[in-house]
Amino acid sequence: MIPRHSPGTLDQMRPAGAFVASVLTQVSRAATPGTNLLELDALAHDLIREAGATSCYIDYHPSFGGSPFGKVICTSVNDAALHGLPHDYRLANGDLLSLDFAVSLQGWVADSALSMIVGGQGSAADQRLIDTCEEALVAGIAHAQPGNRLGDISAAIGEVSRAAGYSVNTDFGGHGVGRTMHEDPSIPNDGRPGSGPALKPGMVFAIEPWLMHSTDEIYTADDGWTLRSADGSRSAHVEHTVAITKNGPLVLTQRS
Ligand code: MG
Repeated sequence: MIPRHSPGTLDQMRPAGAFVASVLTQVSRAATPGTNLLELDALAHDLIREAGATSCYIDYHPSFGGSPFGKVICTSVNDAALHGLPHDYRLANGDLLSLDFAVSLQGWVADSALSMIVGGQGSAADQRLIDTCEEALVAGIAHAQPGNRLGDISAAIGEVSRAAGYSVNTDFGGHGVGRTMHEDPSIPNDGRPGSGPALKPGMVFAIEPWLMHSTDEIYTADDGWTLRSADGSRSAHVEHTVAITKNGPLVLTQRS
C-alpha cells in the first residue's frame, strides 16, 4: 500500500524539503579541494542542530549496514557509489563527489542527493556520467504523474541511462518518503513502462538514479557501509523528493 497525503500535508512537507536543499547547497559549496569529508559532515551536523531537525542517518542500522551509520551525510568519492561513510579524507581537485542527505523536520522526511566535481573541472567522462544521472532524474520526475504507473518512472530512468551506454544496477533505487525515510514503494532504476501500481496525487517518492562508468556491480567496503563499484570505475548519484499532485510532479527538494 503506497501512502497518500492530502495537499495540506504536502504543504507541511515543504520545510523539510527546503532545508535538505539548503544543506546540500551549503555543503557542496564547502566541498573544495583540501576539505576533509569529516568537515563536511560536521557542517551538516551544525546545520541540523540549528534547524532543530533530526538526522535520518546517524542511528540508521539496516540489515545491510555493518553498524549504526554514525554520521549525518553520505559522502561518496570516486568509485564509492552509495552510502559513502564520511572518513578522514581530504578532497582533491577533480574528485567526483556525491552527497546524499536526509532529515526529518517538523515530523516529515526529505531526501536528496547531488553529484559534483571537486574544484569544478574534471574529466569529460565524469561530467557525462553526472549529466546522464541528472537527465535520468528529470525523465523520472516527468513521469511522476497521476494516471501513470510506477514502472513508467523506472523505465524512463533506465532508458536514459542505457541510451547513454551505461548499465543499471536495480538492487538500490528510489523509495516512498513520509514520516520515515524508506516507505513503500521501492522504485528500481529500470523497469517496464505501464507496469506496477497506478500513481495517484498525494504519493511522495524519492527518485534517485545512480550510475557507474563501466559496471553495474558493487561491493561493500571494509567500513561496512560504503558501496563501491566492482571495477573501481567512478559513480554518480542524484536524487529528489517529489510529490505527485493533480497538477503533476512537485519537487520538494529543489535547490535555488
Ligand atoms: Mg537519499
